[in-house]
Amino acid sequence: MMAAHPTLSNTRPEQLIACPFCDALHLRARVKVGQRARCSRCHTVLMAPRAGSYLQVITLSLSVVILMGSAVFFPFLTIAVAGVSRTTSVYEVAFAYSDGILQPLSFVVLAVIMLVPTLRAALLIYAIWPLAHGRPPFARATTALRLAETARPWSMAEVFVFGTSVALVKIAGLATVSLGPAFWAFCGLVLLLTLNEHAICKWTLWQDLEDSARP
Ligand SMILES: [Zn+2]
Repeated sequence: MMAAHPTLSNTRPEQLIACPFCDALHLRARVKVGQRARCSRCHTVLMAPRAGSYLQVITLSLSVVILMGSAVFFPFLTIAVAGVSRTTSVYEVAFAYSDGILQPLSFVVLAVIMLVPTLRAALLIYAIWPLAHGRPPFARATTALRLAETARPWSMAEVFVFGTSVALVKIAGLATVSLGPAFWAFCGLVLLLTLNEHAICKWTLWQDLEDSARP
């Protein structure tokens, strides 16, 4: 557990770490792989470096990029009513509104469910790849990581899956609905994105990026 710091007068800002949950300030300490640093006030985990986490994030991020391709372009669902059936993909649904007033909406939908999660995965790979191979980071790796963090609230593949599931329950009473491979690909994506968020200790990553960039 990290000790809350009583006086801050002689402390430089880079020596401090703030709890993301309760804002308590602590003196930053080196935490070894396998150890955990918790907030002394609310016990939130502040640092938890794990061995092999960079390779794990790269593998998960690559899987997100590949799975996203099939999730968007493969058949998402088939709806059958009175002998007439229609199979559609997410891409086709988004572009069904590509004319007229709903065009900006279809672009935003595609962006938040497809572009942003894919872009975040690519940015993470860019920032972490050299570190995972014991090399200095690429130029602007910190900018890439900062951008990935900024885009996080706009990554809504999970919201899409939950929203669609609720809508399907409603539709199931009116028509016969068969789920296509893209639906399961989106479910897999939600799992991968969640695992990816928790695979890495952000504080350790920033520390490693700073240390590796130093000549
Ligand atoms: Zn706290």
